Amino acid sequence: MFYQCPKCKSCWQQPIIKCPNCFLELERIKSNKAKVIGVSRVTIPTLTHPKVPYFVLVLEDESGNRWAQKSVEEYKIGEEVSFKPESSSEAVAIWRVKYDILEAIEKAVELIGGIKVNQDSKIIILPTLFVPAHPYLGENTNPQVLNTVIKFLIKKGAKSENIKVAGQSFDEVPIEASAQKSQFLQVCSENKVSLLDLAQTEFVAKTVDSFNFEISAELYNQDVIINLPTLNLHPKLGVAGATENIFKFFNKRSYLSLKYLFASEQIFTKINKSLPENILTIGEAMNVQKKNKLTVLLSFVLASYNMVNMDRVFAEICLLDSLPNYLKKTKIENIPVAGRKIKEVQFNIESI
Ligand SMILES: [Zn+2]
Repeated sequence: MFYQCPKCKSCWQQPIIKCPNCFLELERIKSNKAKVIGVSRVTIPTLTHPKVPYFVLVLEDESGNRWAQKSVEEYKIGEEVSFKPESSSEAVAIWRVKYDILEAIEKAVELIGGIKVNQDSKIIILPTLFVPAHPYLGENTNPQVLNTVIKFLIKKGAKSENIKVAGQSFDEVPIEASAQKSQFLQVCSENKVSLLDLAQTEFVAKTVDSFNFEISAELYNQDVIINLPTLNLHPKLGVAGATENIFKFFNKRSYLSLKYLFASEQIFTKINKSLPENILTIGEAMNVQKKNKLTVLLSFVLASYNMVNMDRVFAEICLLDSLPNYLKKTKIENIPVAGRKIKEVQFNIESI
């Protein structure tokens, strides 16, 4: 991706918004091909990059933009680097946010087969909204990512009045307080989309193999459902990510009783059968929380139609030492990965 002035045709790699010479808004131009112009082989492991050898490539696109990228495959100078999409519903796409969150979201979603949206599509977005906390703490979905997902949908043809941002409080804190401090309220009003308190909606009973779920009826009136979790490590759960977030579509009472009666992995195996199909999960891994709640800058976006696979890929990226039970049966080698390879983005965040 690069940014070009429509008048003087100057280009920038960073989204500086306006040309400093002409004061015109820059146009976003996609770069489709990148050529290798430099290769370094790294053989010394570090705490954050423990697996060696790996390669650091210097890439150049057709407009002369250059950047460095880690690779597990060796490339020769002059070779082209490209990324194949994976259309399987099991696939997980990984893309790094360089400067432009929109580019990362567009790329990640495109790599798993895209999303169909038109002006009549009713859309619900479920970001992580657990606590009233400022964005830098990494507790909730980053508001810039929520903002960009809404803009991505509008760019694809959706109407803002058909988009709802959903949330629900499972404790004493009113959802409005969390929405305000996390800056979600501001994002919603700027984009003219509504904030929906799921606790105020009707719930429908679904039974799967003697498990009784009560799920918000809103979910069954939508054309597009987007699960938008922040992906974090967690001292008890191991991973607090895509699957944990989806519980917010449940009735609070149903959620608490299920959690009390059953282990998470039992619920997770049934949960998918009770939810509508084709829920798109866009996982935000910008400021990722370690188990001690301190954050590490990772700057990734993941996309998948399978939320368990996404959590499994995220655990692998963070080199999590022991997997939570609900992820143990999901073999990493069976998950098709598009975009960046797991080994290229692995980062032992607990080591720093
Ligand atoms: Zn210019």
